[in-house]
Amino acid sequence: MTQKSRKNIDRKGGACSFCGTPAEEVPLMFNAGEGISICSSCIEHGYNLLVEHNLVEGKASKTKGTASKFKPLTKADLMRPDKIKSFLDDYVIGQDSAKRYMSVAVYNHYKRLLAKGKTQDVELDKSNIVLVGPTGTGKTLMARTIARLLHVPFSIVDATALTQAGYVGEDVESILSRLLQAADYDVEAAERGIIFIDEIDKIARKGDNPSITRDVSGEGVQQALLKILEGSVVNVPPQGGRKHPDQKYIQVDTSNILFICGGAFDGIDKKIANRLNTNAIGYGTSLSQRIDERNIMKYIQPQDLRAFGLIPELIGRLPVLTFMEPLEREALRSILTEPKNSIIRQYQTLMSLDDIVLTFDDEVLDYIVDKALEFKLGARGLRSICESIMMDVMFDMSADESGNMHITLDYAKSKIEKIA
Ligand code: ADP
Repeated sequence: MTQKSRKNIDRKGGACSFCGTPAEEVPLMFNAGEGISICSSCIEHGYNLLVEHNLVEGKASKTKGTASKFKPLTKADLMRPDKIKSFLDDYVIGQDSAKRYMSVAVYNHYKRLLAKGKTQDVELDKSNIVLVGPTGTGKTLMARTIARLLHVPFSIVDATALTQAGYVGEDVESILSRLLQAADYDVEAAERGIIFIDEIDKIARKGDNPSITRDVSGEGVQQALLKILEGSVVNVPPQGGRKHPDQKYIQVDTSNILFICGGAFDGIDKKIANRLNTNAIGYGTSLSQRIDERNIMKYIQPQDLRAFGLIPELIGRLPVLTFMEPLEREALRSILTEPKNSIIRQYQTLMSLDDIVLTFDDEVLDYIVDKALEFKLGARGLRSICESIMMDVMFDMSADESGNMHITLDYAKSKIEKIA
């Protein structure tokens, strides 16, 4: 700082010309003469804006008192695993085993955050999670629900969009750009956030397949992910996309970010079965008799992910492995009406905003489930089938004089059979 500008720093008297705060209430006040001044908080705010808009390189900081949607975590916020699970129960149907794993992993993760610097000899490792299960079984919903519970920034990224540096596609660092955006560029909040990486199975190694545009083998992306998952300070392009030399970066420390990876891992059941059979031969036939063949996924082990094509180093950084069950008829039926924001409740709420009471014949709900099973769309199908049934009534808003709107089986069938 030059001698001239030092003279312009004032600790008493006057107020900031921008925010009006008196000089006594801020660490520093800079005077421009003729009664014009700016306080250090406004300068910091301006600096953060420059970082956000990529005009200077650096790390946005948080000024005391700056409003952030995400408050620092306190012990009072920490929920025990059984409480986390019962919160999940309100939104996610079934998937008991996955919910238990998630609850414990998230609890331990946040306990670890709160204990930072307090455990001297033992360093607590991160509990990143892999959720394996068919599409539409609630993997994303589970991660989203957890984030809602914890009030931390949350973002979803698709692993298929990621490529190794030097190939066409997004750099892995863009995963963190999304989280930063979700955190309104509050770096501290982002550093304790949750990232859901969907379709992690799509970056599995698939053998040699030369391509000049895309790292088809997937291994390069897995290698690049390692660094982010294990915890390091990463230069993140604020707007995502590809890194280039002129771009300004924000530094993000990933050591406290929780990663939840989801994937369908199509065909992994055969690898599990192979392993179980091989083991069974080794130990006689009794084990194979005890295997529940209808739900082979529950035997999933890290070595099956390896057989599928994930590299051992990556598997090592995803220590919590759990599975999602395929959704049977009963679960699909419950999904329609039971969760706090179930599909049917959402339509009813939408209609109630127009003072219309919306009801359905029970047979309509069974019919929707039948169709979802028939179309093999899982829970994702429920929504699109409901949408086809509800489209015209939502357009016409055709309630009776007392404001009731009732959907019968015949009506539902007429709408679906038209498109099937
Ligand atoms: P995935 O990530 O496994 O492909 P999603 O979590 O995106 O599946 O599920 C798609 C939609 O289906 C969710 O938004 C939700 O409405 C519904 N759904 C799926 N599984 C469940 C479940 N177990 N309980 C409640 N709703 C579910």
